[in-house]
Amino acid sequence: MTAFWTEPDFDDHEMVHVVRDRKSGLTAIIAVHSSHLGPGAGGTRFWHYPDPKDGLRDALRLSRGMSYKNAMAGLPLGGGKAVILADEDRTKTPELLAAFGDAVESLGGRYVTAEDVGISEADMVAVSQRTAHVSGLPVSGENAAGGDPGPFTATGIYLGIKAAVRHKLGKDTVQGVHVAVQGIGSVGGGVARLLAKDGAKLTVADIHADRAAAFADEIGGTAVDADAILSVPCDVLSPNALGAILDEESIAALDTAIVAGGANNQLARAHHGQTLFDRGILFAPDYVINAGGIISVATEYIARRDSKPSGVDEVHKLIASIPDRLETIWQQSDSSSTPPDVVADRMAQDLIGRG
Ligand code: NAD
Repeated sequence: MTAFWTEPDFDDHEMVHVVRDRKSGLTAIIAVHSSHLGPGAGGTRFWHYPDPKDGLRDALRLSRGMSYKNAMAGLPLGGGKAVILADEDRTKTPELLAAFGDAVESLGGRYVTAEDVGISEADMVAVSQRTAHVSGLPVSGENAAGGDPGPFTATGIYLGIKAAVRHKLGKDTVQGVHVAVQGIGSVGGGVARLLAKDGAKLTVADIHADRAAAFADEIGGTAVDADAILSVPCDVLSPNALGAILDEESIAALDTAIVAGGANNQLARAHHGQTLFDRGILFAPDYVINAGGIISVATEYIARRDSKPSGVDEVHKLIASIPDRLETIWQQSDSSSTPPDVVADRMAQDLIGRG
């Protein structure tokens, strides 16, 4: 058998902790990729993997992603991720969450957890009964940081789209700029509303076509079929639904100058960044433009950990640096003829001392 730490996904993780608790039925993997900038921070996924090896792969891939994302967001946090291997019925009991909290606590703060797919805010509150190393808990005051990260993510993407329009189209305003938005959930809906207020022309799509039509009416835009959104002729395509949507076929059909949206891992494979670049389409690396939510969640955690007040003003200040970071990436990309996603990865690797 090949040792798993020699596989590319392992990528020099500092720690991979496997937890088994027979009494509660908990099996979990806690991965810390890097603690160079601070404790490894990233959410917990609760998922049933028919092959547990896929759970390990997810934990490793996602925890490296968090190292890059936290570093590029300017946060004093490293990257980590936990995966709870759910059974087929996805049984989630208070005992299982308590055992998971104990496992996080036993790491003494090397890993800080949060919500991810399959885990709710209420679950995190339960976990927080057993460990202090939890972020993304309900907000405690009117002006406090934290709470639903969606609106903060949307604000960062809105600012990033404005920066992309300036860089690629030489325009200081999005008025009259045509933006196609895939997915009108928490993030995509927020992005579309902010752009509509500035006079952008919006085309939207969602798998819930009726919701998309009503939303388009509300913001004065147009709705199209979910199948059609990726090839709508536009200035900016903003993917805010699923990952892995940019592959050979979809990139060939794009009719846009810019791709800038919040969905995680938009490139189906790493080399698709080069495919976009070859087509002259400006790409905003997803983990840079969609960092608004993690900035809010992390600010809330750090303030609680250090017993100091936290405010949304601090969150907005950090979110305001997203466009500058993107501009630096695009300038380096232009001057070195290297796709922006590759430039971003190298910058992140430098920041975590792995350049
Ligand atoms: P959400 O569930 O609120 O919204 C997603 C929307 O996309 C839903 O309305 C859904 O119906 C729609 N959708 C799904 N498949 C689609 C398809 N094929 N075509 C068109 N629409 C489709 O989720 P969200 O919180 O808005 O997150 C959107 C994306 O952004 C996800 O990829 C998420 O991982 C990423 N993201 C979210 C945050 C955050 O703060 N919420 C932060 C970083 C990244």
